[in-house]
Amino acid sequence: MTITPADIRREVKEKNVTFLRLMFTDILGTLKNVEVPATEEQLDKILNNKMMFDGSSIEGFVRINESDMYLYPDLDTWIIFPWGDENGKVAGLICDVYNPDGTPFAGDPRGNLKRALTHMEATGFKSFNLGPEPEFFLFKLDEKGNPTLEVNDQGGYFDLAPTDTADNTRREIVNVLTDLGFEVEASHHEVAVGQHEIDFKYTNVLEACDNIQIFKLVVKTIAREHGLYATFMAKPKFGINGSGMHCNMSLFDQEGNNAFYDPKGELELSETAYQFLGGILEHAYNFTAITNPTVNSYKRLVPGYEAPVYVAWAGQNRSPLVRVPASRGLGTRLELRSVDPTANPYLALAVLLECGLDGIARKLEAPAPVENNIYMMSGDERQAVGITDLPSTLHNAVKALREDDVVKAALGEHIYTNFVATKKVEWASYAQFVSQWEIDNYLYLY
Ligand code: ADP
Ligand code: MG
Ligand code: MG
Ligand code: MG
Ligand code: MG
Repeated sequence: MTITPADIRREVKEKNVTFLRLMFTDILGTLKNVEVPATEEQLDKILNNKMMFDGSSIEGFVRINESDMYLYPDLDTWIIFPWGDENGKVAGLICDVYNPDGTPFAGDPRGNLKRALTHMEATGFKSFNLGPEPEFFLFKLDEKGNPTLEVNDQGGYFDLAPTDTADNTRREIVNVLTDLGFEVEASHHEVAVGQHEIDFKYTNVLEACDNIQIFKLVVKTIAREHGLYATFMAKPKFGINGSGMHCNMSLFDQEGNNAFYDPKGELELSETAYQFLGGILEHAYNFTAITNPTVNSYKRLVPGYEAPVYVAWAGQNRSPLVRVPASRGLGTRLELRSVDPTANPYLALAVLLECGLDGIARKLEAPAPVENNIYMMSGDERQAVGITDLPSTLHNAVKALREDDVVKAALGEHIYTNFVATKKVEWASYAQFVSQWEIDNYLYLY
């Protein structure tokens, strides 16, 4: 599908679009936007890549003295939001960020992913595909409209309500996503109370990452309309499952065949699949700061809640870091289970692609699959078969980034430096905080 400037001008008139949101993503993964009235004059500017914004107001983006940045809209991302008012509709375009001299801005995560894709194309592949499985919680709002940690779908003692508000909310989210052109494959209640998952069909990684950003916006907006708060934080509640975003990945070759599939290979996987897997496993410890970027992410990566803790892979077994789901042919894929939805998708997938390509370039061999439950093995048993740990804290994860030239190159100097600086501040602030757990465990004991 290719959308032209003429298509956009026509839609603006026909659908009574009065505002345009020009969207981009910052280093932390937050979707930002500049809202512009959809007048002829502004449209001319937008469609001719002349829309300027002040980058210095966005943390870690640019220095004050180079603050003028340009937004180049990707016309294929055109969407008309289902909300707005009687006066007109709001439409959106996802943009790439450019410097005043017309070069791509190195601190733009979407542009950075495109850089990784250019590398991939040079190695002969046609596309890198992503099918994400984002999970989230729906919590009640209090009277003031602030989020609580109370779920509304566990059917309280006196609760005779015949319908489940959360399930209805999830259905409406799916309807809106479908209207926006998403191919939703499944939507279901998750293991934990208040937790949900919506899966949409895999597509090329750039579109899939754009979809994730729009998806989060839709989920949060529709939840609010239903008096609920949607959160993608990794582990909002102690003692129950956290939210992950499993990433299903595959490479297609020039003919559109799945390069991970080989009917004659072991488990019907190609050499390319094993090498890509080898790259993912080799760099897993070092890239975790990008796939699990918050202090709270590491409260999810603990035993007992279906989240991975160790670096290993398997076929059907759901305990390891990477699973190879049973489907073959076009559906052949690697499922990375550590990623959580606080990850900046553009950064995470650029890093995963480069780590996989590194495995292919170096013809790495994947270790043997681990088909028994890793959580039942002792530390010695794990060591004997070469199963290592994922980082246990953001602090360790960020330190590990430094050690990995492939991960650093995948981020580029600008993003790497700003990411590390921001995360160091985040860790330092957390490390100094005295939590209720410490009071409960130490105040009376000492
Ligand atoms: P699970 O069994 O882990 O819950 P789901 O059925 O929820 O898996 O999600 C599987 C995801 O994998 C979907 O998003 C689907 O579109 C995606 N997928 C299928 N084939 C491929 C492929 N070749 N490459 C990448 N993703 C794929
Ligand atoms: Mg799933
Ligand atoms: Mg499923
Ligand atoms: Mg799930
Ligand atoms: Mg899954």
